[in-house]
Amino acid sequence: MVVHAAGRVPEINDLNLDAAGIKWDKRGVIVNEFLQSVSNLAVYAAGDAAASGGLPLAPVASYEGQIAAANLLKGNHQRPNYIGIPSVVFTIPPLAAVGLSERGARDQNLKFKVKMEITSTWYSSRRIAETYSGYKVLVEEGTDHILGAHILGSEASEVINLFALAIRSGMRATDLKHMLFAYPTSGSNMSRML
Ligand SMILES: Cc1cc2nc3c(=O)[nH]c(=O)nc-3n(C[C@H](O)[C@H](O)[C@H](O)COP(=O)(O)OP(=O)(O)OC[C@H]3O[C@@H](n4cnc5c(N)ncnc54)[C@H](O)[C@@H]3O)c2cc1C
Repeated sequence: MVVHAAGRVPEINDLNLDAAGIKWDKRGVIVNEFLQSVSNLAVYAAGDAAASGGLPLAPVASYEGQIAAANLLKGNHQRPNYIGIPSVVFTIPPLAAVGLSERGARDQNLKFKVKMEITSTWYSSRRIAETYSGYKVLVEEGTDHILGAHILGSEASEVINLFALAIRSGMRATDLKHMLFAYPTSGSNMSRML
């Protein structure tokens, strides 16, 4: 049996938001950069119920909740930063991504190098007889910043956090490449991915 459970929509259509002048669409309440409704300034929205630009994920919902609460209590002073938020499809093996896709980077006319490889011959995959694994990493020319990382493999869901850390903190790819990671962890593969 195949169950399709991809995607989600906020359950706000039965709240009669129009009666309070709250603009919304199928992505959620339309909010400004402070997570405040653009049409009813007394209302803030966070998480899956906000059309905020953040991914509909649990950590993003908590993060936005704290920002919305802070802005409600002390006036608009905090904006969410969505750079470098990882997401994982928990298949076997997992498929993980952070940052831009190659197409997304091209759409923004960015100049970048793409490194991509099937890694099923690497020790990390052979050790556990994993037939399917691979990665694609985009590094911006000039800044040496990692624009995006996409990994398929047994520990992709952990390794993607390291890429997220690098992207969110603005690390240079060269610095990450020269990190000395514990061996033989999957994280140590990062040096070869850059
Ligand atoms: C099948 C599935 C798998 C997922 N897997 C992941 C994952 O692996 N990792 C990840 O990061 N995210 C995952 N998510 C997404 C994650 O669950 C959501 O992004 C996150 O829960 C959003 O949090 P939230 O607080 O905005 O909304 P919710 O967690 O949906 O909380 C909203 C709450 O409001 C309540 N509510 C609704 N209407 C009313 C009302 N009128 N009055 C009072 N209460 C109301 C609801 O009952 C609910 O408790 C998954 C989602 C689904 C559906």
